[in-house]
Amino acid sequence: MDCLFCKIVKKEIPAQIIFEDKDIIAFRDIAPQAPVHVLIIPKKHIPGLNDTNALDTALLGRIQLVARELAVKEKISGDGYRLVLNSGSNAGQAVAHLHYHLMGGRKFNWPPG
Ligand code: 5GP
Ligand code: ZN
Repeated sequence: MDCLFCKIVKKEIPAQIIFEDKDIIAFRDIAPQAPVHVLIIPKKHIPGLNDTNALDTALLGRIQLVARELAVKEKISGDGYRLVLNSGSNAGQAVAHLHYHLMGGRKFNWPPG
């Protein structure tokens, strides 16, 4: 399967990996939109949130806890950060492998563009 993020999981494409366990990997975004911009993804290929179900409950929950841990590690938990999941074309999802953006280090607008 020709999936960019699966290739990062398999270390076929280099990435600045900052966290890894048996189910999840997190790496720095190649085009950061904030001083801290990390992508947190499941290692297994899931195209997007639409493709999850109750069996993924623990995985999805764990990703949020990893985000929380990385926010502390990246020193953005105090001032605040944003955890974003884009689903589908209207949201601008460009890579069809489920990923959460952990972003911080600057102030964000609300509502987002
Ligand atoms: P999306 O728009 O799908 O929510 O986000 C995809 C993200 O993946 C973008 O922020 C983009 O900069 C990032 N990205 C695309 N290709 C690569 C890559 O090869 N390496 C890394 N580290 N990030 C990538
Ligand atoms: Zn994939």
